Amino acid sequence: MTGGVVSVWECRFGEMGLWIPAFAGMTERREVTMRIGSGYDVHRLIPGRKLVLGGVTIPFEKGLLGHSDADVLVHALCDALLGAAGLGDIGLHFPDTSPEFKDIYSIRLLEMTYHQLRDKGFSIVNADATIFAESPKLSPYREKMRETLARAIETDPDRINIKATTTEGLGMIGKGEGIGAMAVVLIF
Ligand code: MG
Repeated sequence: MTGGVVSVWECRFGEMGLWIPAFAGMTERREVTMRIGSGYDVHRLIPGRKLVLGGVTIPFEKGLLGHSDADVLVHALCDALLGAAGLGDIGLHFPDTSPEFKDIYSIRLLEMTYHQLRDKGFSIVNADATIFAESPKLSPYREKMRETLARAIETDPDRINIKATTTEGLGMIGKGEGIGAMAVVLIF
């Protein structure tokens, strides 16, 4: 199920399972287990690269260095999804030694990740992510990122939250040497 309303019929205290109707109108019940996953990524900022975050190209004098487009937000989200599903990590599925993924738009990796979860019967409840960047200012791009990510994982933008923070000038992110991101997702 994607984007629908899930109503809890019965909570079985002491267990991790919830009984819910799988789809609106279904009469049978199925037991589902909520699963959480986390992801974290950092890439180096260098001149001469395009800056892509959450699938959105952002005007800036530097971009993230990586085998793909180095979209840290998407990579953190991929890892969170894979983690929640018990499917390993992004390096396992999309190795940075593979020419297939050279300079790839990371949203494609997110789509492939989501398809793996969908094929296993998983649905996404919500995702919450934080970007760590000293600059540029990211709030103007937040809604576009939510829409882009939501489209890739076939869910509603209101199920995806994106936050951005600086590190108050501290560390390599604070010095503008890199951008980091972390993400948490809940699936069932
Ligand atoms: Mg990465």
